[in-house]
Amino acid sequence: MQKKIALIGSTGSIGRQVIRVAERYPDRFRLVALAANTGGGLFAEQVGGIRPAFAALRTEGDALAVPAGVRFARGEGAFEEACSFPGADIVFIAVTGFAGLKAALCAVRAGKDVALANKESLVAGGEIVMPAAEKAGVKILPVDSEHSALWQCLAFDRKAPFSKLILTASGGALRDVPLKKLPYVTAKEALAHPNWQMGAKITVDCATMLNKGFEVIEAMHLYGAPPEKVEVVMHRESVVHSLVAFEDGAVLAQMSYPSMELPIQLALTYPMRLRANVAPLDLASLGALHFSSPDLARYPCFALALACAKEGGDLPCALNAAGEVAVRAFLDGQIKFTQIAEIIEDTLGKLPRRPAESYALLEETDAAARRLARGRLR
Ligand code: MG
Repeated sequence: MQKKIALIGSTGSIGRQVIRVAERYPDRFRLVALAANTGGGLFAEQVGGIRPAFAALRTEGDALAVPAGVRFARGEGAFEEACSFPGADIVFIAVTGFAGLKAALCAVRAGKDVALANKESLVAGGEIVMPAAEKAGVKILPVDSEHSALWQCLAFDRKAPFSKLILTASGGALRDVPLKKLPYVTAKEALAHPNWQMGAKITVDCATMLNKGFEVIEAMHLYGAPPEKVEVVMHRESVVHSLVAFEDGAVLAQMSYPSMELPIQLALTYPMRLRANVAPLDLASLGALHFSSPDLARYPCFALALACAKEGGDLPCALNAAGEVAVRAFLDGQIKFTQIAEIIEDTLGKLPRRPAESYALLEETDAAARRLARGRLR
């Protein structure tokens, strides 16, 4: 039987890879809805080639010329309709940023299983998404490579017992830059990740390790772990994608060459494993794998994220919002690399702490944090 997929965020780095996986196994998968933020030529091309039943753009604007049989709509309502598309068996959420939270809540409340590549939805709203998924009896399938690795080590059981989750971190593009040179690095240098090809925002988040802090919070929500049961270890080669330690001292790791196709495909085919476009791992030619402790002085954003992970409530939501503003400003050449952490810290210090009790409240926190962070740019 074909699995029908609604793909939210089809034009981004992950979205394009989801399409590749779906096209590799046309007898197994069908893309029934496509959604993107602003569209452009690529979205029109995707809709023309795939011919989903429904295509949606989140921003208002002109109509799109679509082939016969495709319904097209745009605006917030259209985006929500794609996220809860009645004809879909699974909603693949591949948008970046806070927009993923609304997408995840729409999908879950419509009773859809969710393949979740958007980490911000759990960072900002894990305290409402996970209970909503529980209540609706739907699955949340991790796509982030570390969380997919943990899920695989837990034999695809998010509720299996463990003693520790160990996330690996590459350290990003600037890991060998001397500390005193960090204020002067350019966006281009921060975007030159040694192991992974990803979107700009997440690549900068790897260089600050804000991304790893997000992933600690994501792991806490996905696997019901308190902060003290999630550990981060530096691992330069990005071959061990994460590990799970068990009560008896056994530790399982998931290894492969870095490729997002593996976790993307597995979220769709699990518990089955099918051929993917990943080269066989050659340990002998790798020779050695390296591990060390994170240096918090080099990665102040990571330290801030760990503090937010402990505190919870709407603080991780504010962290995400301030981070989005600061990273955008860095990419636009408005601020120095080291000011990303300063802007986040400042923003968090000025906001009241509130429990993350509803989407509406988180939306307020998100907007307030963005306002404060933007104020720091002037
Ligand atoms: Mg990751």
